[in-house]
Amino acid sequence: MKLHEFNNLTDTFFATDKMPMLFVGHGSPMNAIEDNEFSKRWKLLGKEIPTPTAVLCISAHWLTRGTAVTAMEHPKTIHDFGGFPKELFDVEYPAPGNVALATETKQLIHSTDVSLNHDWGLDHGTWSVVKQMYPDAKIPVLQLSIDFYKPAQYHYELAKELAALRKKGVLIIGSGNMVHNLGMVAWDKINEPEYGFDWAIEMNKIFKKNISEGNHPAMIDYEKMGKSATLAIPTPDHYFPLIYTLGLQEKNDSVSFFNDKAVGGSLTMTSVKFG
Ligand code: ZN
Repeated sequence: MKLHEFNNLTDTFFATDKMPMLFVGHGSPMNAIEDNEFSKRWKLLGKEIPTPTAVLCISAHWLTRGTAVTAMEHPKTIHDFGGFPKELFDVEYPAPGNVALATETKQLIHSTDVSLNHDWGLDHGTWSVVKQMYPDAKIPVLQLSIDFYKPAQYHYELAKELAALRKKGVLIIGSGNMVHNLGMVAWDKINEPEYGFDWAIEMNKIFKKNISEGNHPAMIDYEKMGKSATLAIPTPDHYFPLIYTLGLQEKNDSVSFFNDKAVGGSLTMTSVKFG
């Protein structure tokens, strides 16, 4: 790297107080355009948290072999869902990317060779949340993919390598859902406030307890948590983003929960602010 390029990096991503970090239960893509209790909280967070230099999102909806980071100047808005109104497909979130930050992210990670991606963009796990937080779309947004061929421990360790970004004003967001069983959703009760099956409520309590107590080994070993956990995490795509935030959680990070609710029986919107 040439010296002037290095200067560019340090100019843009200067040292800051450590940024908070979020795990966000994103739920339905409709939360992107609805003004409901969940999206209201996201809007508020956008005002509460110091304005980030960039957002790096680990979304449940970008699963790859190997790890990649988006490295285009203008990431496209990906409408990766079906069966929703045209209004949602019409949404564009034209936040810029940041090639320098993508390069820096790649360089921070030594456990694997992170590829710079020019094809993806922003999927709804990212833009449905970030659009509500930062409607102006002025802050650069990047995504880091989830290597879906690797276990939780791998993601937990990889996340630790991103720690320096929090001190450069980057807001890291894990976007998924702690309890996420689409096959068991009670669609007839989807609009009922706070409707959770017993096992979903049980797991919500256990997850929150483990997170509050910093019991990361139990969270990494989710497959040993028993039958309720198997129902809550039939596949780990929406759970792994949480593992990234746990990997990045530091001892002095305060932990607070928001949108702590079950929806449709088999989903929880429970989200965490660290720091
Ligand atoms: Zn999702």
